[in-house]
Amino acid sequence: MAPQVLIVGAGVTGSVLAMLAKDMGLSVRVLEKSRGAGGRMATHTFRRGDRSSPVLAHADLGAQYVTTRSSPEHPFLGPLYKRLTDAGVLIPFTGEVAGANPYGGAGPEVRHFAAPMGMRSIAEYFLQSSSVPIDWGVAVEDLSPSDSGVAVSAQVPETLSEEAATANVVVLTQPVQQVLGATKFGLRGTFLKHTSEEVMAGLKKVEYSSRFAVAYFFDKSKVSWPFSWTCKYFDKGDVRYVAHDTARRGGASEEPLMAVLVHSGVPLGMKLNDEEDPFPTAAARMQSELEEKLPELPWATAEGSKVHKWKYSQVYIGYGGNKPSPSWVWPVGAETSSSGGCVELFRADGSLGLLCGDAVAPASNFEGCVYSAYKAAEMLRAHFGKCAPTPVAL
Ligand SMILES: Cc1cc2nc3c(=O)[nH]c(=O)nc-3n(C[C@H](O)[C@H](O)[C@H](O)COP(=O)(O)OP(=O)(O)OC[C@H]3O[C@@H](n4cnc5c(N)ncnc54)[C@H](O)[C@@H]3O)c2cc1C
Repeated sequence: MAPQVLIVGAGVTGSVLAMLAKDMGLSVRVLEKSRGAGGRMATHTFRRGDRSSPVLAHADLGAQYVTTRSSPEHPFLGPLYKRLTDAGVLIPFTGEVAGANPYGGAGPEVRHFAAPMGMRSIAEYFLQSSSVPIDWGVAVEDLSPSDSGVAVSAQVPETLSEEAATANVVVLTQPVQQVLGATKFGLRGTFLKHTSEEVMAGLKKVEYSSRFAVAYFFDKSKVSWPFSWTCKYFDKGDVRYVAHDTARRGGASEEPLMAVLVHSGVPLGMKLNDEEDPFPTAAARMQSELEEKLPELPWATAEGSKVHKWKYSQVYIGYGGNKPSPSWVWPVGAETSSSGGCVELFRADGSLGLLCGDAVAPASNFEGCVYSAYKAAEMLRAHFGKCAPTPVAL
């Protein structure tokens, strides 16, 4: 049976929204182009050999920690953090951070959380606890709204199940450039002809930063971490962030290899943006700078490495030209106000198309995405005449 709500993307926004919509009693289905959840909160699993070989280490290639300035009494975020920490999905991050965190992450009111099972486990947790059906490996290609619902097509038609081929409401959560059709996994965008000029103008202003992530894996019996800090920010050069990724995630790890994660600066990401195979150049430049900046670690002796390009990393300019604020706080008492967080792409009698995610949120981070999912859930409530999205069922 066609779901009432089809969510495109199993990142943090899509997974929180799936949980909220399911809690409202709606029938929900998620389509995800990758084989796993998390999106830009991606956790790489390092093995030597195929998927049946033993796991040697994990590394968070994208988001590193969850940061909050919210009060534990916040009616929505308070129960959400309690639930995530009670389940062990998040634990307080207590490691030393060296250098100036450019995302405004310091101050007495700031709390950081790490995800011991990797950042992707946050999205996995929301999806598992709502037990919505998910179709993995389905790249949505286009949407056709009509008075009888939204018809969905996939880049590889055979991957789309009958249950996912139509819905009353489709919610897109991928980066805006992909919604506008500008990339490999871009949508064809037939549905955009139903989008108002004002919304199109707002979407066209959105810009993302680009950067590289490189995870190095060292044999713990041969290499030990030589620094007191767990994470360090650098304000110049190709290398802008280095972390002992295994330690950052907290707890005693059974993994035989130690993961060290490095993020490039945005200039390197932008410079190599249009190159067909930017990975060897990026990896070589970053390694040579690491050898200079942190010679205490024998970079060349790593047992393996993984290079990833984030073409759409964090939002640099948000919807309508708004600048996202990393220190944004979701105000108590304003959780049902109608400003921002979710955009209507099209509406007909029997169909609705929404876009949510960090580009339309006040911040390009975990809480911005959670806020955006909450605002989308409010729009679903209004559309289906349901009651308000509940805080989080405990
Ligand atoms: C390097 C880096 C560091 C960061 N650091 C932090 C941090 O420390 N703390 C923090 O809070 N945030 C951080 N962020 C930002 C945070 O990761 C994002 O704000 C958040 O993950 C966005 O989630 P989302 O669900 O909105 O979008 P995404 O995570 O992009 O999810 C969209 C999903 O849609 C899927 N998709 C795309 N196209 C299609 C299609 N056609 N069909 C089906 N599925 C599709 C994608 O595969 C993806 O799973 C960082 C991001 C990066 C890249």
